[in-house]
Amino acid sequence: MLGAHVSIAGGTHEAPPRASAIGATAMQIFTKMATRWAERACEDDECRAFHAALRKTGVRATAAHDSYLINLASPDPTLRRRSIESFVAELARCEALGLRFLVSHPGNYLNDRASGIQRNAEAIGEALERVPGRTVLCLETTSGSGTAIGATFEELAAVIAAVPGSQRRRLGVRGPPTAPW
Ligand SMILES: [Zn+2]
Repeated sequence: MLGAHVSIAGGTHEAPPRASAIGATAMQIFTKMATRWAERACEDDECRAFHAALRKTGVRATAAHDSYLINLASPDPTLRRRSIESFVAELARCEALGLRFLVSHPGNYLNDRASGIQRNAEAIGEALERVPGRTVLCLETTSGSGTAIGATFEELAAVIAAVPGSQRRRLGVRGPPTAPW
C-alpha cells in the first residue's frame, strides 16, 4: 500500500476522494485541528458520510495522526491530564470513524527519561481502557531531539512493555515519515 496525509477541509468525507485522486491505497488524516486543544466528537452523520466516501475508493488502510499539543509523558500534572483527555478524544474519533490506526508521537519527558516513559505508558493504558475498540495505536519514531521519547526501537519497546498487558495488543510502531508530520 502507498499513501499520504490528506486534508479534511470541508469535512472528513472529503479526505477519501482526495486520497483516491492521487492513487493512494492508504491515507492519513487529522480528525481535528492538530495545533489547537479544542476537541470535537464525530457524530453518526459524519461517520456515515465518511464511510460512504471511503467505500467508493481503493483506500484500504486509514490512519489519523494525533494533535501536536499532546504530551502524555509530561511531568506537569495539569498538562498531562489535559493531554490524556485530548488523546482519549482522538482515540474516540478514530473508533467512531472506524480508522485502523492512530499515529501518536511519544511524549517529552522533560525531567527524567525513565519516569517519562512510565508516565507515557500509563497514560496510553488509561486511554485505551477508556476507549475500547479496534483502532491500533502506532507509536511513531522520533528524532530524539530535546527530551523526546522514541528515538530508538528499544525506547519504544520500553514504552510498550510498560503498558498493561491487556491493552498492549492494541499497540504498534510506525517508522519515520518522509514528511515532518
Ligand atoms: Zn508524526
